[in-house]
Amino acid sequence: MIILSEEKKALLKSAGKRFPKVNDACIGCNACVVVAEEGVFELDDQWKSIVLEMEDYEEKWVENAMSACPVDAISWEA
Ligand code: SF4
Repeated sequence: MIILSEEKKALLKSAGKRFPKVNDACIGCNACVVVAEEGVFELDDQWKSIVLEMEDYEEKWVENAMSACPVDAISWEA
C-alpha cells in the first residue's frame, strides 16, 4: 500500500480532483476500510485510518465511508 503523500495531494489538487482526509478523531473502528472500495482507506499500526494513494476517489466510496464513520473523522479536501 502507498499512503497518499503531500506530493500526490498537490498533484490531485492541481488536477482539480478531490480526495478524502481523516482527522485525529478517528477511533480505528475499521468501518471506512470495510465500506469503501478496497484501496481507499487502511488502518496503520496505531489503529488510525489513513488514506491510500489513488488516481481518483469516487464520490460514493468516500461518501459511504463518511456515513459509516461514527465520529465524523472523514471529510473531503480539494
Ligand atoms: S470509520 Fe472513522 S473512526 Fe472508523 S476507522 Fe474510519 S475514520 Fe476511523
